[in-house]
Order: sequence, then structure tokens, then C-alpha cells
Amino acid sequence: MSGINMTRRGLIGAGGGAVAATLAAGMVPAAARIQAGTGARVAGQPMPDGVKLPATPPRPKRQDSVGFAIVGLGGYALNQMMPRFVDAERAHVAAIVSGNPDKLAKVGDAYGVPGDARYSYDRFDEIASDDRIDAIYIVLPTGLHADWAVRAFGAGKHVLCEKPMALSSADCERMIAAGRRANRKLMIAYRSHFEPFNVEAMKLMSQKAVGDIRLLRTEQSYRMGPTTPRENWRVSRALAGGGPLEDYGIYGLQSALYLTGEMPESISATTFRPTGDPRFAEIFAHVGSQWRFPSGAVAHLATSYDSAGTNFAHVRGTRGALIMDPATSYSGQKMRLEGREPRELNPGDPGVQFARQLDHFADAVRDNKPIRTPGEMGLRDTRLIEAIYAAAERGQTVRLAPDGRMRG
Ligand code: NDP
Repeated sequence: MSGINMTRRGLIGAGGGAVAATLAAGMVPAAARIQAGTGARVAGQPMPDGVKLPATPPRPKRQDSVGFAIVGLGGYALNQMMPRFVDAERAHVAAIVSGNPDKLAKVGDAYGVPGDARYSYDRFDEIASDDRIDAIYIVLPTGLHADWAVRAFGAGKHVLCEKPMALSSADCERMIAAGRRANRKLMIAYRSHFEPFNVEAMKLMSQKAVGDIRLLRTEQSYRMGPTTPRENWRVSRALAGGGPLEDYGIYGLQSALYLTGEMPESISATTFRPTGDPRFAEIFAHVGSQWRFPSGAVAHLATSYDSAGTNFAHVRGTRGALIMDPATSYSGQKMRLEGREPRELNPGDPGVQFARQLDHFADAVRDNKPIRTPGEMGLRDTRLIEAIYAAAERGQTVRLAPDGRMRG
């Protein structure tokens, strides 16, 4: 899980979604088969539980600090990301965008956002002429990411977009094209690329710390409390795609790629959706897939919204194993190497991932540095999600090109 505590997750679920164009038509009610980019509306929501607003408004640290407009004042924005801006060197909250006027007032006051930099969704396009805003941080339900990224580029701003990038590879391509047209940066907020345990794991695997990788296993699960698509976007196909894979399983998908350093050449998969459970009226309860890499390594990825919580990545090579458990949380990561010289590893505080991600994006905006997690990475991952659903639906192994497109 993205590290969100289980109580909150249990109530409101996890987030994400990719409606693959190929996704399981026939496995969901017709009314729920909504094409990406349509059918989903922006709407204000109540203040999430447990929000702690800053006692004193934070101030930018540097003259060249990048000003962000935060779009969508939900749980992740208010509980995780906005409080981390104080740790960033070169990023600050310059504006907020919300459908809830009460939140605009409370959050705006707490973060020192001027009254005329508190935007409703209807006024979003006025951002184009607001020079205090360099970049838009999209923290909306996933089904809304593509349209709002395109609007943000239309306003001439850079875009940091939450994971998963969008609901389909076509939407990802639309976002990338809009960014290119506007000559603006696009980054996907894959925070694990800035988190010390995962960064160290990538290094160790590239140095063959476990020898040649043979087997990889990832699992991301938790048990969602009672809910319905009407009350929770995370179980709505229009806003969350197939469900747990896009939201939580995407961490396992990402780990499989950055730990092996390879793209799979084939994928087989299975999904399960129980009947009569309102949580799974539109999304899957579990998704499992098996991947084969060109090196011969084999991966097994599983994710669920209806199993006791876990979040691990295991890599087994010819000389040992790397065990990460929990693997990609907000905090509390654990990692050990097994083999000839077994040891626990503690490469640093996972809490730095949020500010490092913001500063990385700010450096790209100000210094034109390359982005470690660009839109192309989000597109690649969305193609793999589409391949997983296609394999499950066809009951067949699908073969993939090196860019993740399905062959045939
Ligand atoms: P929430 O449901 O807590 O917040 C979403 C916010 O989006 C709402 O509060 C609301 O803000 C706005 N919104 C606009 N339209 C809608 C609508 N139709 N339905 C619901 N909300 C709407 O979600 P999260 O903050 O948890 O997730 C947002 C994004 O962040 C997702 O893409 C998710 O995948 C990602 N995420 C990333 C994590 C990570 O670790 N990187 C962890 C958790 C989420 P307002 O009231 O201000 O208009």
C-alpha cells in the first residue's frame, strides 16, 4: 500500500485506475464500461479524516522555488504531500484548487495561500495568467488525471501527476503529446524512485548482489471496508479502472521493472470479481499475473482489495535473495539480503521520498534536468496493466514488445 494506514484504507480504500481499452468487457456491468476521459466529473469532497494543518504558514526557502498549484485537496494531498513541502528546498505551495469552498478557506489560511490563488475547478483556466504558479500537481481521482493534465498544459504550466498516470495508454499518450506541444515538463509521482530503500535496492540489483535474478514476487493487498461506487471513487470503474492493480499493485509492477532492470516479454494473468459484493460491483477484488523476462527470470505479482494487508517484494537470484517487507510504504521500510553474507540494510529515512520527489521535479523545471519518472514511464506501466487485463480476459499468455505494447 502506499503506506496509508489500514484504518483509513479500510474505510475509503486505495486509489488509482487504468481502464484498459481492452479491459474485460463482458466482466463488468455495461453501465460501468465507461471510456477513459468520459463520464467522470470533478466534484468537491468533505475534509478528509485526520488532517493536521500547519500552525504557521510555510514560506518558500529560495528565490527560484517552484510554485505549485495543488489540484484536489483529498487525503493524499492534505495528509501526505502538502505537509512535506516544508522539507523541500525548491518547491512551495503557491495555489490550491478544490470543489469545496470550506476547504479552500481553511487550507488556504493554514498554508498562507492568498485569497486570489484559491481556485475552484470552474476558474482553473485563469491559472494561465497567474505567474505565481509554475506547476500543477494533480492529486485527483485517476480517471480525471488526463483531462486535467491537458488543461494544465493548455494553461502553459508544468505537470506533476499522481500515480497511476491515467486510465488508458491512449490517455497517457494524450498527456505526453499535450506536454510536448506546450513545451512543458511531465512527471509521474512515483515516489519510490526517491526513497532510500528502493533506490538502494535498485543499485544492489544492478550490482548483482543476489547474482543473476531468477525469481521475483511482489504482493500489495489490504481489506477494503464496506463501500459502493457511488460513495467511493476507488471502487468506481470510471474513476479507478480495474481497482487494486492500478492503485496498489502498481507498486509491485514498478518494483518488478526497476529491480530486474528488464521489461517482460510475456504475461499471463487472472482476475477475480465476486458477485453480490457492492465493493466489487465495478472493479476486481484480486489480480494476479506471471511475467517472463528476456533473461529467463520469472515474476509473480499479486494484488488484492480483499486480503489482509501486505506490501512486499522478494527477489531471488543465483547467489541469494533480497527481501523488502514492507517494500514501498511512506515509512517503516525493512530490507535484508540473504545468501553468503546475510544482513539487514537501512540506507536512510523513507520520509525523505516526498520532498526529494518535489525537488527533483523543481530541478527539472528550473534547470531543464531529465526526469527520472517521466510520462513515458507512466505510459509503459499503463500498457503493462492493459496487457495484464487482456491476458486475463483472453485466458492466454500475451507477448510484448520492448515498449510494453502487446504483439498481436
Ligand atoms: P481522495 O479521495 O482522498 O481525494 C481526491 C480529491 O479529489 C477529493 O478530495 C476532491 O478534492 C477531488 N475530487 C474531484 N472530483 C472528485 C470526484 N468525482 N470524486 C472524488 N474526489 C474528487 O483521494 P486520494 O487523495 O487518496 O488520491 C488522489 C490521487 O492520489 C489518486 O490518483 C491516487 O492514486 C493518488 N495517491 C497516491 C499515493 C502515493 O503514495 N503516491 C497515495 C494515495 C493516493 P476537493 O474536495 O478539494 O475538490
